[in-house]
Amino acid sequence: MAVAPKPRPGVLDIEAYVPGEAHVPGGVKPIKLSSNETPLGPSPQAVEAFRIAGADLERYPDGQATELRQAIARRFGLDANRIVCGAGSDELISLIAHAYLGPGDEGLFTEHGFLLYRIVVLAAGATPVVVPEKNLTADVDAILAHVTPRTRVVFLANPNNPTGTYLPIDEVRRLRAGLPDEALLVLDAAYAEYVRRNDYEAGLELVATTENTVMTRTFSKIFGLAGLRIGWAYCPAAVADALNRIRGPFNLSTPSIAAGAAAIGDWSHVEAAVAHNEEWRAWLTAEIEKLGLPVTPSVANFLLIHFPAAPGRDAAACDAFLKSRGIILRRVGGYGLPGALRLTVGTADENRKVQEALATFVGAAG
Ligand code: PMP
Repeated sequence: MAVAPKPRPGVLDIEAYVPGEAHVPGGVKPIKLSSNETPLGPSPQAVEAFRIAGADLERYPDGQATELRQAIARRFGLDANRIVCGAGSDELISLIAHAYLGPGDEGLFTEHGFLLYRIVVLAAGATPVVVPEKNLTADVDAILAHVTPRTRVVFLANPNNPTGTYLPIDEVRRLRAGLPDEALLVLDAAYAEYVRRNDYEAGLELVATTENTVMTRTFSKIFGLAGLRIGWAYCPAAVADALNRIRGPFNLSTPSIAAGAAAIGDWSHVEAAVAHNEEWRAWLTAEIEKLGLPVTPSVANFLLIHFPAAPGRDAAACDAFLKSRGIILRRVGGYGLPGALRLTVGTADENRKVQEALATFVGAAG
């Protein structure tokens, strides 16, 4: 019998990322509130650009994604040469790990940080270092206390998924100032547009004025283009150069480049999504807390709901109950939060339905 080739040591120790579920029993169309997608969908202008670009599929895409980088640069007043685009911000996070981490290096992230960080650190052959949080929020002092001479990359999701918590820019600056210059700080700002402060402009400025800070962003959340896989990173010039050397030469498809550029040109769609999110996030938070279920205050488009550790009333029981009614939330045991469920803000109708179902669950569980 032929011997199967073995992956590098460590690869088979990595636990694969398990996405939020998309199906419920019975084949009915679920109310899917498990993946932080936008209930408003993409801008019609993005859909139209996607459709037109679909007429040209026999050609390779522009490997530099020039149209998209220029559209992003115009929107935020950035240098297009320092923007690197990827197939979702997932790809950029992975490229950063592969470019800056190797065996013997340490990649830091916080206790309830986005699950991908552990995967990419291990995939690069480096050592993950998990830093405790305070009140489900990243703690700058704790991060700095875990830095060693081997620390090469620090990942910070801000706002964090799945907690929805957030570090204001002053804390981010304090973190940057306290880290060694050789450590790259990755500000993963997948939910940036939901935060109504100019902190993200300041975060981009931090990238522009330091040699060792990167911000990653995505078109999967507020722009409603998760299915197209479009992300971008704003980088110091040397980091952009490194990522461009190792990325796939055509890592974004032609329709993705076109749709992304159109989406970022339709800012009124983004404003509408922010307004919808703020209204319903506040409503859901208040209504769910009235049911006696604590909710972690969130600045993003999702809420972390905490359940009692009692059989029949816990997160697992609620998850099963909701699924039986066609509603999918995200289990977050993999994030070290087995007692909680994450709920994405949906349409008005979806939000009312999930609130009613939660009320029934709490009432029935007594
Ligand atoms: N960062 C965070 C914090 C996320 O929650 C997600 C999506 N779950 C991503 C990055 C990756 O998103 P995408 O690859 O779709 O851009």
